[in-house]
Amino acid sequence: MDFRFTPQEEALRKKFNDFFQAEMKYAPLEWGTSMEAIFGLDACWEFHRKLATKLAAKGWLSRPWPKEYGGEDASLVEQFIFSDVMGYNRGAGVDHWGIMLLVPTLLVGANEEQKREHLPPIARAERFWTQLWSEPGSGSDLASLTTRAVRDGDDYVVNGQKIWSSGAHRADWGFLLARTNPQEKRSRGLSFFLVDMKTPGITIKPILSLDGSHLFNEVFLDDVRVPARNMVGEENQGWIASQMTANFERSMIALFAYLKRELEELVEFCRETKRDGKAISGNALVRQRLSQMAIEIDIGRTFSYSVLWNQIKGGLVMAAPLAAGAKILATEMVQRFTFSACQIIGLHAQVKESRWAPLKGRYEKEYQQCLGLSMAGGTSEIMRNLICAMGLGLPRSW
Ligand SMILES: Cc1cc2nc3c(=O)[nH]c(=O)nc-3n(C[C@H](O)[C@H](O)[C@H](O)COP(=O)(O)OP(=O)(O)OC[C@H]3O[C@@H](n4cnc5c(N)ncnc54)[C@H](O)[C@@H]3O)c2cc1C
Repeated sequence: MDFRFTPQEEALRKKFNDFFQAEMKYAPLEWGTSMEAIFGLDACWEFHRKLATKLAAKGWLSRPWPKEYGGEDASLVEQFIFSDVMGYNRGAGVDHWGIMLLVPTLLVGANEEQKREHLPPIARAERFWTQLWSEPGSGSDLASLTTRAVRDGDDYVVNGQKIWSSGAHRADWGFLLARTNPQEKRSRGLSFFLVDMKTPGITIKPILSLDGSHLFNEVFLDDVRVPARNMVGEENQGWIASQMTANFERSMIALFAYLKRELEELVEFCRETKRDGKAISGNALVRQRLSQMAIEIDIGRTFSYSVLWNQIKGGLVMAAPLAAGAKILATEMVQRFTFSACQIIGLHAQVKESRWAPLKGRYEKEYQQCLGLSMAGGTSEIMRNLICAMGLGLPRSW
């Protein structure tokens, strides 16, 4: 494995880095502490959208896409570099749901008309998306979902309830899984739709987190008419559409890069902060903890490189168990890091929105919200099941 990048790739890294360094200086104080901040606070949301427009103007939101759809066919390595730089700078402007989750499906599974209609507004940062998949009774076991879509002329009429829809209150459009065949209880009866969130019959109700922040929503669908031309893939083949994904990097490098930056700032804090007249960085327990985290973050970064390498060599499917491992490692590492940071900072870690708050008070929020990372997009247990089935060749059930 050769970790060196080419001079062109290094130049690209510098270009991305210069951009984010310059722009992130203007980020609101709360930016970068959590997903809740992006969607819950007007200042963060406006900043996010403004930066998205700037990224779009450079053509960077669509760089990995094929040239015929306005992209540059950016290689997996170039995508990796972008994610690395963005994570390290706590960058804004990339709509995770639209760019990272939906576009790979559209590129592979949508028809030409749908691609021409939906890709350009995403590339121009004019349309932000929410994922309408989970339901009160269907999370990990998504194939059991019950929201119904019934064909009526040129439309489908949708009725049901979605939950945990991140940022639905900010989104312009949603991608929805609904049951078109009630006889089929599992994945074979589902279809995949693109839904304008302003369609009559959609009601969005906030679910506030314990700390009062607003990321999640319930979305109620009452006789919502979705044009049949907004169905991606064939009727009852929505599960296949939802699993289709273009060759986009899936290494979790952004999260490890983010942790690297956090660790650097925490080390600086320990160097500068005195307790009983001595810098905390001299405390043996603090030093042990910091060095342990440095080891784990470096291991994580190396693991991301190996996901990338396997994706380049063998494609998404071969790299899937490794990508699942990277997700577990990165999200659980964020939790260990945050808990350790709070212990090192001590009681002051609870202070926020005050000039006395250490490290801008970021850990007060992170501490409360980091657990959700190992549930979002598939829980750690589901990821471990995937590793067993796809990586270790064990039976899916017993
Ligand atoms: C931060 C965050 C953002 C999210 N954003 C969205 C969004 O935008 N749109 C959306 O549709 N959903 C979203 N979700 C929902 C997410 O997809 C679900 O929380 C997730 O799929 C788990 O489903 P559940 O919460 O119903 O838990 P359950 O599926 O009920 O699981 C409960 C527990 O049982 C375990 N478990 C379940 N099945 C198995 C199994 N077969 N083997 C071993 N253990 C198992 C799980 O790991 C978990 O610990 C989000 C969740 C979070 C935390």
